[in-house]
Amino acid sequence: MASSVKRVLVTGGAGFLGSHLCERLVGAGHDVICVDNFFTSQKGNVAGLLSRPNFELIRHDVTHPLWLEVDQIYNLACPAAPGHYQYNPIKTMKTSVMGAINVLGMAKRCRAKILQASTSEVYGDPEVHPQPESYVGHVNPIGPRACYDEGKRAAETLFFDYHRSNGVNVRVVRIFNTYGPRMHPYDGRVVSNFIRQALRGEDVTIYGDGAQSRSFCYVDDLIEGLVRMMEGPDQFVGPVNVGNPDEFTIRQLAELTIELTGSRSRIVTRPAVADDPRQRQPDISLARQRLGWEPRVRLRDGLARTVEYFRSVDLSAFRAPTPNY
Ligand code: NAD
Ligand code: UDP
Repeated sequence: MASSVKRVLVTGGAGFLGSHLCERLVGAGHDVICVDNFFTSQKGNVAGLLSRPNFELIRHDVTHPLWLEVDQIYNLACPAAPGHYQYNPIKTMKTSVMGAINVLGMAKRCRAKILQASTSEVYGDPEVHPQPESYVGHVNPIGPRACYDEGKRAAETLFFDYHRSNGVNVRVVRIFNTYGPRMHPYDGRVVSNFIRQALRGEDVTIYGDGAQSRSFCYVDDLIEGLVRMMEGPDQFVGPVNVGNPDEFTIRQLAELTIELTGSRSRIVTRPAVADDPRQRQPDISLARQRLGWEPRVRLRDGLARTVEYFRSVDLSAFRAPTPNY
């Protein structure tokens, strides 16, 4: 009988989502290998796992080949926040595309199951709302977000071509905005910016008029969705949306953050950023149907937990991303 304990590789495993995923997999007894180059993360995220006998940490850049023997691969390595992925856009594209080729090659050799952390950004600035998986997207291929959006789209293409041409057992999950403890405080994402600003009594900065919307998923819900997809039936390769369909405007998020932090910060507006999607909300019918998954944590509760995390860390211990050519 096949063992239920798996050798699992998590690329980008020291990042925000990756560290929660590693924790979950180590807790379930799997042998977990975390690969990360620490471009947007720090060892502190997985410090609690280092003493565990079923956890191994490798500093490695996924744009270079890596030789490991594993049963499952979660491919999360890629800067995810706009400020991070625009820092070195060419490297971002290389990470998505060359990283995908390297881990898909490993999956093919090891006959491992492999899951790609794709993104709602493949829908671009959507003309269809909410976005079902069948929507092919509205992406500007030459704009400042293209390195990430098009990199992730190319990675999806590679996953499906390895699946069709080489029979690799793939899974593609399109992750919508996710937040929670261990987000990088200086990643420039809206949740981390607003909480950091509110806790310090600084102005809370809305880009544009604040009427643009996002749907925020708490990290625990997201990790559950990833694991269910990996463990789901082989016939269901995706892509599948995983996110929270409760939609909020950015102004509502600013007001809620100020309320939960008890801050006296003012809300101020700044110029809108280029190619900023106006609306984003997942259609999660497919995840409900095929994975029996739906989010459980309401924004108010998840945000309160995230505020607690930001209160508990020393913000001066975090640095902006380092050059990574
Ligand atoms: P993150 O920046 O915290 O994590 C990414 C991790 O990948 C970091 O630890 C980083 O150091 C590592 N990394 C980057 N380039 C690498 C490289 N070349 N080689 C090895 N490691 C590398 O971001 P996150 O929010 O945890 O995102 C994880 C994954 O989920 C990403 O692929 C992202 O695109 C996807 N995703 C996240 C969200 C979200 O809202 N958090 C939404 C959609 C998709
Ligand atoms: N945003 C904002 N103020 C900030 C940071 C972000 O108003 O300090 C807006 C941003 O313009 C976008 C939304 O919040 O409309 C979500 O931005 P984020 O960078 O978190 O993620 P995105 O979904 O755009 O990738």
